[in-house]
Order: sequence, then structure tokens, then C-alpha cells
Amino acid sequence: MRRIVDACADCDTCRYLMDESCLLFPRLYQGWDAQCEARRPITRQALFELADSCTLCGLCPCFNIRNDVVKAKAERVAALGMPMGVRLLADVQRFARLGGSAPRLVNRLLAIPALNRVLKKLLDIHPQRELPPLAAQSFFDWARRKGLQRHPHGERKVAYFAGCTAGYLFPEVARAAVAVLNRNGVAVHVPDQQCCGMPTLLEGDRATTLKRARFNLATLGALAEADYDIVCSCPTCGYLLKVLLKENACYSAAYQESVQAGADELLVPDTAAAGGATAGGDGERFIRVKKSLYAAILCDDGLFAGLDPLGRIALSARVYDLGEYLAALKAQGRFDGALGGVNGHMVYYAPCHQREQAMGSPYLNLLKAIPDLAFQSVGGPMDCCGMGGSLGYKRQFHADALRLGRPLMQKIAAAAPAAIVTDCLSCRLQFRHRLPYAVWHPLELLQRAYGHG
Ligand code: SF4
Ligand code: SF4
Repeated sequence: MRRIVDACADCDTCRYLMDESCLLFPRLYQGWDAQCEARRPITRQALFELADSCTLCGLCPCFNIRNDVVKAKAERVAALGMPMGVRLLADVQRFARLGGSAPRLVNRLLAIPALNRVLKKLLDIHPQRELPPLAAQSFFDWARRKGLQRHPHGERKVAYFAGCTAGYLFPEVARAAVAVLNRNGVAVHVPDQQCCGMPTLLEGDRATTLKRARFNLATLGALAEADYDIVCSCPTCGYLLKVLLKENACYSAAYQESVQAGADELLVPDTAAAGGATAGGDGERFIRVKKSLYAAILCDDGLFAGLDPLGRIALSARVYDLGEYLAALKAQGRFDGALGGVNGHMVYYAPCHQREQAMGSPYLNLLKAIPDLAFQSVGGPMDCCGMGGSLGYKRQFHADALRLGRPLMQKIAAAAPAAIVTDCLSCRLQFRHRLPYAVWHPLELLQRAYGHG
């Protein structure tokens, strides 16, 4: 964290750029200014809090800064352990599986004010935050009863990675995903899955994150090899499986060998430009750099470096956000456009982890095709709901999370919509906490327009 402070203080770009969109940078520059002007060194505790205030939203310009934050969190947990409250809050999967055998009883117990207060204290949750109830039937139980764990036949099939939030807290979203896919002639398989790992990654719990990523890589990787596309309705799961998991894998020896790099060169895939040199079998374009000069910084040294780099790359290439997948069906003329009318004026907010997947906002065009729906996009590229996964739940970050989300809330309130539409369920929790409007996932709206909702 001290390295980050030094680098960002030296650069200074994010002092103004990220002033209203991130909790880390204002604190970083405050600490730096106090160190320079009042000779008050930044304390170890302040560095811990800096690390805690990064939610990995991806809005800042340098990905190596957020990678360093992840490493710093992991190092701290390795050295000092993890408070039980943080561990429980970061682990929706474990909490939901424990309570999943008797969700109604758990919800009734949590509705008792004294017990609710004790639990919030234990988890260090702000008293004003409402814990979402466990679903009476998780999506995974529903899918099992429907036989969706079996492998389907059919020309088009996907493996659906529902994620924990839709799986255990908002199963109606995951059921809508299945309904919309089926309506478009796509058979759905729901494989065994573990949490994508983002919540534990954010808290520095490296061991749990790796264990879950390893499981998902093996299961989903085998499905990708069996010609399944992997689809996600949660932008955070998609971001982890599509972007973070494969980060730096192309610098590994295995990958360099697979694309036949020369002895003193590294072949870096060039996805942006059309003019790079070609190498390898698929006409993929590469930037060639001198290995002897760059090998120390261009290396596969991230959190997932211990996992098979070729497997990470292969899986990432088969993962699609569900909006992206449906938009591709539309482009191929295979999207069922027989959508019924939905009355109302709604706003759509594109969450940060959708933006980080660099795929535009694929749901926008799909939803604009719904008759009678007055629909507008809200929020710019630097707007954030402020929730930051579960950060907004934490007692010490509650006020900051509300402040961070205020500009977006004001824009939404000015539009006075009948409902907010967003694909992120963390944003949904923040919107519900702050605003009086209904919140829908785009898939729920499509399901409704198909007459099934
Ligand atoms: S994140 Fe990058 S651009 Fe922003 S201040 Fe730090 S080094 Fe500069
Ligand atoms: S990833 Fe997001 S929260 Fe973390 S430093 Fe960058 S802008 Fe701030």
C-alpha cells in the first residue's frame, strides 16, 4: 500500500479524476498531503483502511494499482487473519447454505429485533442496513427439481453460472434467465458451481478465493470443452470469470509456448488494434516485445497464477454476459422479438463490472424493443451506486457508501421513474436502501415482456 501511495502521489492524476467516484483516492491524497505538509506519516492502520476502501470497481486508469491492493489485502490476512464478521459477510455462499435448509425459520429469527441487532453487531453491519432475506427456495434447489443439472440435447445450449446473490437471495432473477433463454430456443444446464470468488477476493481471503476459482475452472472448463457457452446474469461473476481469472495468463511460459514465441520475445495479444503482427494458428494479432527487457514486469504473477493459464484463457473465451449473449442472438436473427408491451417510464443503470467487460450495454437495445416502455439510460461512466459489493453494509463505510452513490441517486430521482433496471444485484440492494422505486433485472423485464413474468 505504501508503494501505491508513492506511485499515485507522484502521478496525481486521480486526485481530481477519481475525487467523487472512489473512496480510496481522496483518502490517499489526504494522507499524502498531511504527510508532506504536517509531517504526519501515514500510519499502518490508515494503510489498512485505504486497502479496505477499494472495491475493485475498475474505474481508475491503472489495473496494476488494483492488483496491488488485492495483494496487500491478501498479505494482511495472511499475517493477521480475518475478523469473523468480515469472513461471514463476505461468504454469502456459506451463510446461505447453512441457513438454506430452513430459510423461513432463519428469516423469522432475523426479524426478531434483538437477534437482528446481535447479528449486525457480530458482522459489523451498520444498524440502518436491512439484511436481504434468504429465498424460500434457492434457485439451485429449483433447478435441481426441474432437472436442469442434467445435460440437455439441442443445437444451442448453455451452462448457466447464476452466482450466489441470484442463487440464494434473488432466485426470481435466475429463473427469469432460464425462461428467457428457453424462449429463445436455448437449452440450459445448471452445473455444480461455487461462488465466483469476488467477495472473498475483495476481503483478501486468498485461500477461499483460490479454492472456489479452482473448482469453477475445472467444472466450467470441462463444459466449455464439451461445447457449452457459459453465461452469467451477474456482471461481477462475469467480470471475474471473463476478465480477472485470465489476467496475465498470456505471459505464462505455457501460453508463450502455445503461440510459438521466439527465444527472446513475448507475444502479447493485441485485441484493440488491427495492425499487430500475426502469429499462432487463429490469425490472432500480437504485439512483440523483447523478453529480456520486459519479462520482469510482464509475468503471470497475479492471484490466479497458480491455476492452469491455458485453461484460464480457454474458459474466459467461452464466458458471456447474458445480455451480450442475447444481443449476439439478435444480431444473428435468432432472438425472439415477439415482446408484449410493458407500460411505464424506466431508467437503466449500467453497473461498473459490466463496463469493465468492455462490451457496451447490450441490454439497452434489447429493452428498447419492448413496446410502450419509455426507457432511458441514467448515469455516466464515473457514476457508482456506492455499494461496492458488501462495503456499504459495513458500519465504518456506510456513510461513505451513501455519499459515493449520491450523484447517481440524484440523477435517478430527477427522472422519477416507475422502476430502475440494472443487472447488478448489489446495486439493487443500494437502490432499495436509498430510493422508493422498484428495481428490476433486465432479464425479469424481458421475461415480463414475453408474458411469463
Ligand atoms: S491509479 Fe494510475 S493514473 Fe491514477 S494516480 Fe495512480 S498511477 Fe496515476
Ligand atoms: S478499483 Fe475502484 S475502488 Fe479501487 S482504487 Fe480503482 S476506482 Fe477506487
